[in-house]
Amino acid sequence: QRKIRIGIAGYGNLGKGVEMAIAQSPDMELVGVFSRRNPADVQLLDSNIPVHAQNDIAQFRDQIDVLILCGGSKNDLPEQGPALAAMFNIVDSFDTHATIPEYHAAMDSAAKPAGYTAMISVGWDPGLFSLNRLYGEAILPVGATYTFWGKGLSQGHSDAVRRVPGVKAGVQYTLPAEAAIERVRNGELPELATREKHKRECYVVLADGADAKEVEQNIVSMPHYFADYDTTVNFISEQELRRDHAAMPHGGVVIRSGTSDAGTTQVMEYTLKLGSNPEFTAAVLVAYARATWRLNQSGVIGAQTVLDVAPGLLSPKSGAELRKELL
Ligand code: NDP
Repeated sequence: QRKIRIGIAGYGNLGKGVEMAIAQSPDMELVGVFSRRNPADVQLLDSNIPVHAQNDIAQFRDQIDVLILCGGSKNDLPEQGPALAAMFNIVDSFDTHATIPEYHAAMDSAAKPAGYTAMISVGWDPGLFSLNRLYGEAILPVGATYTFWGKGLSQGHSDAVRRVPGVKAGVQYTLPAEAAIERVRNGELPELATREKHKRECYVVLADGADAKEVEQNIVSMPHYFADYDTTVNFISEQELRRDHAAMPHGGVVIRSGTSDAGTTQVMEYTLKLGSNPEFTAAVLVAYARATWRLNQSGVIGAQTVLDVAPGLLSPKSGAELRKELL
């Protein structure tokens, strides 16, 4: 059987992660990367793979089985997603939770008439965490679901810190409150306020002449981002920022705590500890690209999410192998 031919649209952190994950997938080959930048300026890990201008992508319709969209959720995907879903089978990591229903509708109306499959909002949250929330609710209908994130670098909150006057550079970590997680693990079913679930930790390089007290106050009082949390601000040098805060770790835990009809406590827990958020997210996208191709081959078209995909479709192994090895 021939390999599944993959294209990457947009080459940032996630695009690079997809290139790495395909290198570990013997049933797939990366046939090209598409970028809005001048292709000559985009350096891949493997220089044998061609980089093309995004504008030329329609010419490659017959050469790509699944296109993995690696643009940002805020500005890139709402525009690129529907346009590309009308031309290719796609997988993306659209993660603006509140607007997923609208995005799903737009992708469905683009993909379906053209006979393509659009696998949207793949990754770990949304993605693997969504699946685990579903398993929890379906299996323990009487109970509560808790999601804690971190320790992880939050891109959105880091951007917010960097926009504060007097901040030269900085990052923000989200930390789960361990005491709250313990209570949930013990089956207590606590009602937790925002402040009780997560803490925020900032590492900031001050601009020349900036007042540390003032910067700290402006960060911790910022509405939506920090005001509802216990936030600590640490001032560090540029060298320390480069040395200690360049990685993009993340992760978290989904816990479903429920009771059976006899009153017995049951707790389900799913944990991720990720050294690199984009490398892991990309690996999830690649596994779902395999499922997307299989679904399209079997006539399933239009917008799909992780909630619609049978787990066996993610694996390069056959059903017979999986039944023998994993059941
Ligand atoms: P990046 O900012 O690294 O890349 C986004 C786009 O920006 C790229 O596709 C690329 O497009 C462009 N770009 C990248 N580098 C440069 C550069 N040096 N100069 C100019 N343009 C550049 O974002 P990430 O890859 O880190 O994240 C992408 C999205 O992944 C996030 O917005 C988030 O929505 C999603 N995500 C989802 C998760 C989930 O669990 N569902 C988890 C983590 C992330 P081009 O090549 O066309 O210029």
